[in-house]
Amino acid sequence: MSSRGALVVALVVLLVGLVLAIALGTPWRPLHMTGPVVPVDPTRDFTAAEIAREDAFHAAVRPPAYLSLVVALAVSLVLGLSPLGARLIDRVASPFGSGWGWRVLVGGVAVTAVGRLLVLPLDARAEAVQRRYGLSTQSWSSWLVDVAKGYGLTLVITLVVLFGLFGLVRRAPDWWWAWAAVGGALLVVVVSFAYPVVVEPVFNKFTPLQAGPLRTSLLEMAARDGVPAKDVLVADASRRTTALNAYVSGFGATRRIVVYDTLLRSATPDEVRVVVAHELGHAKRRDVLWGTLEGALGTAVFVCLLALVLRSPGLLRRAGVESAGDPRALALVLAVIALGLVLGTPAQNLVSRRIETRADVHALDLTRDPGTFIEMERRLSLVNLSDLDPSPIVFGLFATHPTGPQRIALARDWAVLHGLPVPGAAAH
Ligand SMILES: [Zn+2]
Repeated sequence: MSSRGALVVALVVLLVGLVLAIALGTPWRPLHMTGPVVPVDPTRDFTAAEIAREDAFHAAVRPPAYLSLVVALAVSLVLGLSPLGARLIDRVASPFGSGWGWRVLVGGVAVTAVGRLLVLPLDARAEAVQRRYGLSTQSWSSWLVDVAKGYGLTLVITLVVLFGLFGLVRRAPDWWWAWAAVGGALLVVVVSFAYPVVVEPVFNKFTPLQAGPLRTSLLEMAARDGVPAKDVLVADASRRTTALNAYVSGFGATRRIVVYDTLLRSATPDEVRVVVAHELGHAKRRDVLWGTLEGALGTAVFVCLLALVLRSPGLLRRAGVESAGDPRALALVLAVIALGLVLGTPAQNLVSRRIETRADVHALDLTRDPGTFIEMERRLSLVNLSDLDPSPIVFGLFATHPTGPQRIALARDWAVLHGLPVPGAAAH
């Protein structure tokens, strides 16, 4: 078979595999209700003033935040789909000679830095809004340090990808995509596994939850749930934000349950238990591992699509390069990656929202306390200034979780389903 024929077959097989994995592996209906369901109604649990404050915050923060996404994508597409990117790489790499390694290194830094610098004022504006609303607790210098760390991390991963890719393209011009698909999938698994021990400590300090009744009750709950947990870790999130959160990351030996110190300070012990019960739901269903495997499959699909792009003489000409092995094609590669991330995010979020709902059902099953669940959701929504009633477009594109009012309605549905008293309005 020609390498092109093999590429098309591989793409179709991987794509079918990905669609099947998502269709069969996603909990589309986490709560099996047969009767009428409780309507989602933000005004039942949130006052008009609370809704107005959240609306005002989003009206202020979304323009710079969304513009930043649009500008980053536009810069990427302009550099990759016109000769501008290739010219920029020529210009910055010429003092280092004509070796392809220098071009990938210096060119990769230049192309990513242009995009990062252009969106910096917009990101600063969004940060200023968060500070005005008391959500961010950072000084400008610590914010800039975070930006630099984030850029450095992205740059390292980008350069690893680019060196791997161009190294393969130059060694195996016809079959590089097969190696790259396997390599890309493995990279996703390795990064996800190493993330909690390599990446997270760059941004936060983690300490074991202090011994005491709360820690004992959380570990007891984990044991009762059949999820072995040695510890619950506390992140010093308060150095950056007032937001409340908890999460599970890693898998196997690196799996950990983390709660923000902000949550421990403001929520009641019963509310913390509800949050940890939700995280145990993720751990029990191995959501991080399955998400990683789907991500690995998605990456292999993406590499095949990228190979098709790099075989298109028209697109290469547009990017000002003659062949896919020309390291100046990295601007085109980065543009396709940026586009792939933007297009892939809504699909990822669709799956994420169902998985989050399943973890919520798990929390309710484990704690059997929908009243506390609702109080906790109300607190999370208010402190994090969550959008209580987003437009369907914003929700579909960006929401990784159901809204607070949706999660509250779920808790009432759960109570109905289990014949327990349905908690009333939580607005204070
Ligand atoms: Zn979750």
